[in-house]
Amino acid sequence: MENIDYIMDTAQKNFGGQIESYTTMFFGVCESCRSEQGLTKLAATADS
Ligand SMILES: [Zn+2]
Repeated sequence: MENIDYIMDTAQKNFGGQIESYTTMFFGVCESCRSEQGLTKLAATADS
């Protein structure tokens, strides 16, 4: 994954103070859960 520190510059544009650090979290399902369960959910939402 490439460096995403540019996110601090983007956030800084809308904040008058000084951003000194940030935390990024990712949530999701693993590959096997995705293939077992995700496909049916994705198919269901794709129609709406
Ligand atoms: Zn899983």
